[in-house]
Amino acid sequence: MTAAESIQSPHVDLYSDTLTTPSPEMRAFMADSRVGDEQKGEDPSVNDLTNMASDLLGKEAAVFLPSGTMCNEIALAVHTRPGDEVMADATAHIINYEVGGPAALSGINVRALNGKRGVFSAAQLRAVVRPPSRYAPRTSGVVVEQTSNAGGGTIWPLATMNDVVSVARDHGLWAHMDGARLFNAAVASGVKPQAYAELFDSVFIDLSKGLGAPVGGILAGSHDFIEQAWRLKQRWGGAMRQSGVIAAAGIYALQNNVDRLIDDHANAQHLAENLAMVDGISIIPGEVETNIVLFDVADTGLTAAEFGRRVFSEHGIRVSAFGPTTVRAVTHLDVKSEQLPPAVSAIAETAESALAGR
Ligand SMILES: *Cc1c(COP(=O)(O)O)cnc(C)c1O
Repeated sequence: MTAAESIQSPHVDLYSDTLTTPSPEMRAFMADSRVGDEQKGEDPSVNDLTNMASDLLGKEAAVFLPSGTMCNEIALAVHTRPGDEVMADATAHIINYEVGGPAALSGINVRALNGKRGVFSAAQLRAVVRPPSRYAPRTSGVVVEQTSNAGGGTIWPLATMNDVVSVARDHGLWAHMDGARLFNAAVASGVKPQAYAELFDSVFIDLSKGLGAPVGGILAGSHDFIEQAWRLKQRWGGAMRQSGVIAAAGIYALQNNVDRLIDDHANAQHLAENLAMVDGISIIPGEVETNIVLFDVADTGLTAAEFGRRVFSEHGIRVSAFGPTTVRAVTHLDVKSEQLPPAVSAIAETAESALAGR
């Protein structure tokens, strides 16, 4: 994506669910919010939001942070000591998209496990837990990403999660959930967010993805954990002032935008089923479980980047290049079902013309 391309606005934007913009109703709710000094614990909207989130997740306490990345990085810093080793899937956000934060901020190794579409097994975890040794890093904890973003929106089944966390507990490890899209998993599976969350010491949820708020994440855990997280929020410059204005967007999102995630999933399924019928495109619709659609364009002879550029410049539809020949399309609050047929046609025409030109 060049700067020039990103300035024009696409007709249909399937780039990411981070693109959702606050609706007029959400903005009105934000404008009406009561505020105070968050750092002093005096912002009523922030307090309402963190109470709502800790209830939803079944945790003692929660802290509001400016981003999901800060939620993950603070959780890792609280749970570890420099030299520790943490286990995560090779596709994990903490490994690939947090600028080396675990190493830079906490001085820890993150060991990559090769799961299936972002989901690893209890046996895989057990195999890499190190026995205590003077020479080895100390295996300290495990991170599970629900849903797996780079795995393609994959849902960790509750039973798999339970088995993985049981292995962690057998070895005295802590467990953190990167629940950026936990509500997508909950809505799609029918399992309560709390049922997933209760397995973990700490859980983060993102407000600025499919839930449609402009800013923010929430990190939840025990009173003691949140007390320590607050110290890092302050130290790392994440403590805000009248942040009730943005916390209100989170309240609105939790009240209004959770159940509707099911529409995003239906749209993603529709997209996947239609793309599966297009020559040159490889996709297994059954693997599309939530709002993320990954498809392969190798057979068209184009790279994912070339494919994405053509779909955008010729049809005004934006997708993203996710791997050398893997394209990602994400459905969200601001993608309406009537926008899907033109998106499918654009992708099909791009594939057809590429195949014709081979
Ligand atoms: C987006 C995302 C994050 C980070 O959230 P930001 O609010 O963008 O910092 C963490 N984990 C996963 C799986 C994500 O998709």
